[in-house]
Amino acid sequence: MKNITVIGSGTMGNGIAHTFAQFGYQVNLVDINIEALDKAIVTITKNLDRQVAKGTLTEEAKEATLSNITTITDLQTGVENADLIVEAATENIELKLKIFKDLDQFAKPEAILASNTSSISITQIAAVTNRGDKVIGMHFMNPVPVMKLVEVIRGYATSNETTHQIMELSKKLEKSPVEVNDYPGFVANRILMPMINEAVYTLFEGVAGVEEIDTVMKLGMAHPMGPLQLADFIGLDVCLAILNVLHQGFGNPKYAPCPLLVNMVMAGKKGVKSGEGFYDYSNGVKEAKVAAKFI
Ligand code: NAD
Repeated sequence: MKNITVIGSGTMGNGIAHTFAQFGYQVNLVDINIEALDKAIVTITKNLDRQVAKGTLTEEAKEATLSNITTITDLQTGVENADLIVEAATENIELKLKIFKDLDQFAKPEAILASNTSSISITQIAAVTNRGDKVIGMHFMNPVPVMKLVEVIRGYATSNETTHQIMELSKKLEKSPVEVNDYPGFVANRILMPMINEAVYTLFEGVAGVEEIDTVMKLGMAHPMGPLQLADFIGLDVCLAILNVLHQGFGNPKYAPCPLLVNMVMAGKKGVKSGEGFYDYSNGVKEAKVAAKFI
């Protein structure tokens, strides 16, 4: 595999493009929003500068990485040459089904179609294509250049060959892939999201404030980041979308999203990406102040 197309250049898409490009792959980064593409290049450049400052990457490798990335707004042009397409567009089922129908039409017949979805059924996505054996979940973690895990999700029709190729490719990116089956939330979010939701309920019910909840989980459970801060990093809209998938998929009320989370998303408070979530990021991510009202 040489040519990789990443669909969506938001929080995850820019990190996925960065990682493939750093390991020498030619990357087409596709987004319908030109500003998102410009922002992605700024973010990738900033993150590469950080790697250079830390001494983990040379200046030449940084330039080579940037030159491996092409930004494109037209899906068809962006995918026709790809050996692998990693879709990282907004977590919305209708949108993903539409994108995969288009990918199936425009991509080479032998191309693998992967989704970075956090929770949507790979089997359902595969069913809108004529190549179910070549559709797979390739779930990177945020921030992609740093986090080692790739959850590789086998849909009902995914072939052994496709799974093997994606496992091996992940290792080439110096990641540690783990193979899992296709059920709502897979493994990572089936366990993580109920914890985040419970943290929001704890705030909502006035048991403790934002910093208190995060401090308990950081110091008490040795988590590097508290669940509310983590939710802000993931994106509150993304957390809500995943909880809805778990709730609908299992039909179990234990996954019902906390009304406070629903309200915050409706109010446009999506966490770091919108500048405010449980914390206020208007002075930069490192100087976050508690912003949520329910304390
Ligand atoms: P995001 O909102 O930051 O970015 C989504 C991007 O998709 C936007 O730039 C948007 O313009 C673009 N987009 C929307 N429709 C498109 C289309 N038709 N064609 C091309 N681009 C389109 O979202 P994100 O947090 O990067 O999430 C992307 C995917 O990754 C989701 O499926 C999400 O569940 C998954 N994911 C997110 C995280 C996380 O921590 N945020 C972690 C793992 C997986």
